[in-house]
Amino acid sequence: MRYIGLLLLVFVFTSNQATAQDWLIERSEWGSTDSLIESNRHTISYITIHHGGEIFDDDKNVYSYLKNLQSWSRSARGWMDVPYHYIIDRKGNIFEGRPLDYRGDTNTSYDPTGHALIVLLGNFEEQELRDEQIESMKTVTEYLADWKSVPASKIKTHKDYAETLCPGKKLSEYLFTKEWKQFLGKLEAEN
Ligand SMILES: [Zn+2]
Repeated sequence: MRYIGLLLLVFVFTSNQATAQDWLIERSEWGSTDSLIESNRHTISYITIHHGGEIFDDDKNVYSYLKNLQSWSRSARGWMDVPYHYIIDRKGNIFEGRPLDYRGDTNTSYDPTGHALIVLLGNFEEQELRDEQIESMKTVTEYLADWKSVPASKIKTHKDYAETLCPGKKLSEYLFTKEWKQFLGKLEAEN
């Protein structure tokens, strides 16, 4: 009996380890509250990259920004939660947004069902993309592509689906570089 208890303990411990990513700042850590709507459940088959669209200072407090974004999303837009699943700040910190199993939201015309939404904070029509943000974008993309078996051909940006400037000029330009193409090629070879 004691042996079975020990086995169970080991199982619980290792399964927790399998889901927790050491690079992820979880929802509970930025003070998020849950309000899940079961009819919003979906299954991931795309990864879609966005910019925040507003100028974001490198030292702005992201914790309070996210809490405000969450209340605005619910009160002004009637959304379940913040619109994105992963939020990357100017320093490359990666925050957990809306739970991945629930489809995101958008102010534009595409249907985000099936899309894992990653946003890099900043306005890349005007602001420079930071190296730390690029590295973190790769971390999240690689993790999701591997976990959800998303092929490189389904890793795109907001403006591939809707009439918008998102993800902004500088981020769009980066996604046409040889470096990003090589990164996608490596993912494709691994998966
Ligand atoms: Zn967007």
